[in-house]
Amino acid sequence: MSPGSVVVTGANRGIGLGLVQQLVKDKNIRHIIATARDVEKATDLKAIQDPRLHILPLTVTCDKSIDTFVSKVTDIVGSDGLNLLVNNAGIAVKYPTAEPNRAKLTEQLDVNTVSVVIVTQKFLPLLQKAASKVSGDNLSVSRAAVVTISSGLGSITENTTGSGPWAGLAYRMSKSAVNQFAKTLSIDLKDDHILAVNFCPGWVQTDMGGPQAALTVDQSTTELVSSFNKLDNSHNGGYFQRNLTPFQF
Ligand code: NDP
Repeated sequence: MSPGSVVVTGANRGIGLGLVQQLVKDKNIRHIIATARDVEKATDLKAIQDPRLHILPLTVTCDKSIDTFVSKVTDIVGSDGLNLLVNNAGIAVKYPTAEPNRAKLTEQLDVNTVSVVIVTQKFLPLLQKAASKVSGDNLSVSRAAVVTISSGLGSITENTTGSGPWAGLAYRMSKSAVNQFAKTLSIDLKDDHILAVNFCPGWVQTDMGGPQAALTVDQSTTELVSSFNKLDNSHNGGYFQRNLTPFQF
């Protein structure tokens, strides 16, 4: 099951870029819309030669930027609506537990949580339009879906290390909150037939993951895209590893 159209946020580097590199291999997709904060500097993304690829500016923390972006996507997908939104853009702010800092905490939650919610809400009309083209109750990325790139660090059940040596408290909180978001969305949008799931991509060699990470971008994104295409009603509201093994919330 391939989506007819897909949006990937934060696609100029890292996992977002890798997702686009995988998606262009799927000839069933008609529109791949990839975002960068600064399109001028998105050289790796712009190096992908494919007429189906649209590269557009988006700063997920800016409502005006989101509105302009949604309007451009509306022009691209037309009456078909949007089949798949991939909320990938994210940051990892160092946030030591003993050092209160409202600005850092707010920045972390704004990008990884608040902006995911707002971007998704602004895309609901286009997702609803795509979902309404299909009859019956079946869910898939070829109908309409919101996939959010979360993290295993968002799991409350599997948190045995506290903040840990990595980004810590604020990052964990931001990803736990988007896990709740996807679960809630999956229930709220049941009648709209829009699927909502979250994935952990694994520990990946990106600017965020660092060079010691276990997986290359190619390894992670190959599995992620394969899993996206397998999503159905049984996965709705779930939180998964890249190979569709369920994660504990
Ligand atoms: P990178 O740091 O390599 O890339 C992050 C991307 O997000 C960039 O394209 C960046 O744009 C974009 N971005 C950041 N802030 C904003 C913003 N305000 N508006 C728009 N775009 C923004 O990270 P990864 O590729 O590693 O991470 C991608 C996702 O995967 C994140 O959600 C992350 O939390 C998650 N993840 C990553 C893991 C890993 O090991 N790498 C592990 C688990 C989860 P710009 O270039 O302009 O800064």
